[in-house]
Amino acid sequence: MLLKGKNNNSRIIVTNAEKWLHQHPTKGSIILITDSHLNSCYPNFLKNIPRIVIPFGEQHKTRETVDYIIQQLLNLSADRQTFLLGFGGGVITDLTGFVASVFMRGIAFGLIPTSLLAQIDASIGGKTGYNFNGYKNIIGSFYLPDFVLCDISFLTTLPQKEYLSGLGELIKYGLIADQELYRFINNNIPEILNRNKAILEYLIPKVMAIKTTIVAEDEHEKGLRKILNFGHTVGHSLEKHQDIPHGFAVNIGMMTALKLSCQINHISSSEIDYFSKLSCQLGLPTQHEIPIEDLVEAMKKDKKKQNSHIDFILLKQIGEAEITTFSYPQIKELLYELR
Ligand code: NAD
Repeated sequence: MLLKGKNNNSRIIVTNAEKWLHQHPTKGSIILITDSHLNSCYPNFLKNIPRIVIPFGEQHKTRETVDYIIQQLLNLSADRQTFLLGFGGGVITDLTGFVASVFMRGIAFGLIPTSLLAQIDASIGGKTGYNFNGYKNIIGSFYLPDFVLCDISFLTTLPQKEYLSGLGELIKYGLIADQELYRFINNNIPEILNRNKAILEYLIPKVMAIKTTIVAEDEHEKGLRKILNFGHTVGHSLEKHQDIPHGFAVNIGMMTALKLSCQINHISSSEIDYFSKLSCQLGLPTQHEIPIEDLVEAMKKDKKKQNSHIDFILLKQIGEAEITTFSYPQIKELLYELR
């Protein structure tokens, strides 16, 4: 797959990462960026390449970590020709992209996403960034990698909770863009839970292609790309209030958005039961205990807000999303009606 951007094109390849890199040497010398968890799981992966290791976890997606990486790059005598290679989950792909976009005013980089969420979502589309004072991804840039190498074999070591979190995003793509994919997920639950290789080799490229098509149409999220935020308005608010994996929060957010879609767009209420059952079988939550007042307050910190309104993604039907705009009082009232 090729994602054509304004300033760069991104090759997206599902392959054996190490083999591909040997066959396609980069122009400049590589510096690998990874987290301590991946580093201990894969100590021999590209072991001759200098590496910068940061602590794992969302709490390290900060300015301090960005500064640390930049200092390490300087210690390693990195220059404009240096090629950064991010090896890890979404935290690593977002941070590597951000550092690449600002170091010496921008250097080339590639990504090897290792979590399901990073493979189908975070690594594709050039959004980079880090969190600041409770604001998620509030500092960032749009900067496409030269390539994304998606090696499905890395998923074998992914902790179960992280795998399930990725499934939340996987379902999202079915709901917003591909009804057939959504039903396919529902019809293959045991295989998906068992990380069946053939099923993943079918699903992951399919979802990557959906994201690639959407981003190619709207690289800088002026319109269509916003549909990828389905479930994220409530999801991000939940993440501000509780320690919950991203995909779990998105799944709860998708339940809210689906209920609103039924209310506003008259989608059959049987779809709520369908989603609820599917989520339950996959081990994904659909409910939360956070008071609506607090949720709406957190939405005001969302970077998708525009003055007194917020874009809220609803479904027109299963497999088709639309961008709706609500004022905060409106969204509060609608959320109360759902209770
Ligand atoms: P993560 O990077 O924190 O990874 C989750 C955990 O799994 C980490 O502990 C990591 O070390 C471990 N891990 C990852 N791959 C592994 C493997 N193969 N084997 C063993 N352990 C492995 O989180 P994530 O869920 O991958 O990504 C979430 C982040 O992605 C959030 O910060 C979110 O904002 C970002 N994101 C970005 C975009 C985007 O478009 N840029 C889209 C969605 C999400």
